[in-house]
Amino acid sequence: MHSRERPQPPIVTPAGFVSSPPPSDAIVLFNGTGLSGWRTSGKQEPAQWNLANGYMEVVPGTGDIETTAAFGDIQLHVEWATPVPTGGTDQERGNSGVYIMKTYEVQVLDSYGNVTYPDGQAGAIFGQYPPLVNASRPPEEWQSYDIVFHRPRFARDSSLITPARITVLQNGILVQDNVTVTGPTSGGRHPYRYLPERMPLRLQDHEFKVRYRNIWIRDLERAINNE
Ligand code: MG
Repeated sequence: MHSRERPQPPIVTPAGFVSSPPPSDAIVLFNGTGLSGWRTSGKQEPAQWNLANGYMEVVPGTGDIETTAAFGDIQLHVEWATPVPTGGTDQERGNSGVYIMKTYEVQVLDSYGNVTYPDGQAGAIFGQYPPLVNASRPPEEWQSYDIVFHRPRFARDSSLITPARITVLQNGILVQDNVTVTGPTSGGRHPYRYLPERMPLRLQDHEFKVRYRNIWIRDLERAINNE
């Protein structure tokens, strides 16, 4: 974990940014008009992040935020932008993160000309899988993640039956190809622990003014159940 001996993912320059508006069956989690679907993570308190010009922005020190709704298997679209760097390097540069089920982090980082350990750069499953390529755009430019996630399945005795799997496209480029998540990513590498079938989506306050917009989700289990 966090080895700097691993090869750096090759750089692939994405084409021009294309936003993906929510399809008809999407649950819109953030469309720029309010933070009503979000709360401060772990608390029954409103999200304290700033709202401006159609995006939300981390207010350092106010804490992570999470959705009030909970999800299992999902397709997720998120757009994000890191701030102009103020001198920090490595992990101290535009750090944030998209935590699926509050537990599995797809790293958000300014990885444009900024070297860190490969399993901690943008598009990494933090501490587990470096992205296949470095598809990062410069700071302040909008970037996208499109994620397909299948939650872990647990037996009645809480033992693991099936681990989680995740596919990630960054700026339309495949960076995680159906990888098997090895367990929770928070604060290091951990074995699986029981999770309910649905958990909120969490966005990380890592003390950097990272912006998010156009966040929507397709609930894959609900879509299947409706058939
Ligand atoms: Mg992070």
